Amino acid sequence: MKRKGLLIILSSPSGAGKSTLAKRLMEWDPTLKFSVSATTRAPRPGEKDGREYFFRSREDFAAMVEAGEMLEHAEVFGNFYGSPKGPVAAAMIEGRDTLFDIDWQGGQQVKQAMGDDVVSIFVLPPSISELERRLRSRGQDSDEVIAGRMAKSEAEISHWAEYDYVLINEDLDRAEAELKTILMAERMRRDRQPSLSEFVRGLNREFSQR
Ligand code: ADP
Ligand code: 5GP
Repeated sequence: MKRKGLLIILSSPSGAGKSTLAKRLMEWDPTLKFSVSATTRAPRPGEKDGREYFFRSREDFAAMVEAGEMLEHAEVFGNFYGSPKGPVAAAMIEGRDTLFDIDWQGGQQVKQAMGDDVVSIFVLPPSISELERRLRSRGQDSDEVIAGRMAKSEAEISHWAEYDYVLINEDLDRAEAELKTILMAERMRRDRQPSLSEFVRGLNREFSQR
């Protein structure tokens, strides 16, 4: 019997490193599926439609919401973002885990809709000055956009205690190792291993034959 896929939510203030961590986690486990969100924001240099995001007009995004195609959606930094339902449902049935890079509003909505199948992880920066340094070093946003993201980071961080796990991304290798540990432990939970009952029945048959 296959287990149901997990929904792993990664949230953090912008720049704390969740996309970097998500990428490393997916390289480590290629069975993980990344939930590609739809957004109304413009692509950054190097971003490709359908890979990082589905880049949509406001009208198309609203139509997707209207048609009930979104598992969750929210306004972040003046743009709309949402997670399409279809790929998530397919992954769950296949027993594949899905990784979400979404904000606290999306995290709350997914938790409400999917309950026990959700594992939520919040990534904190080691300091606010380092957060700003990382946003600048990414080199993809204007000063104005960076200032806007820094202004919102306090509000995003205020939701840290709503998450199942919290990690501080100071040393990237260490944060990656912590993330893998969380995922391995969550997969080992008794209620997530449906084939265990059959396995123990086999052990009992062996007992009775001794
Ligand atoms: P987010 O997805 O949370 O907005 P990113 O993953 O894009 O953040 O990371 C922002 C910048 O910080 C990137 O340039 C990334 O390479 C860098 N970065 C991420 N984690 C670390 C770390 N532990 N130490 C130093 N730089 C980091
Ligand atoms: P960025 O524009 O830097 O890619 O993302 C900005 C913020 O939007 C990040 O905090 C990211 O986690 C969040 N985000 C990305 N996709 C989604 C989504 O589908 N839903 C929600 N609620 N937030 C998202």
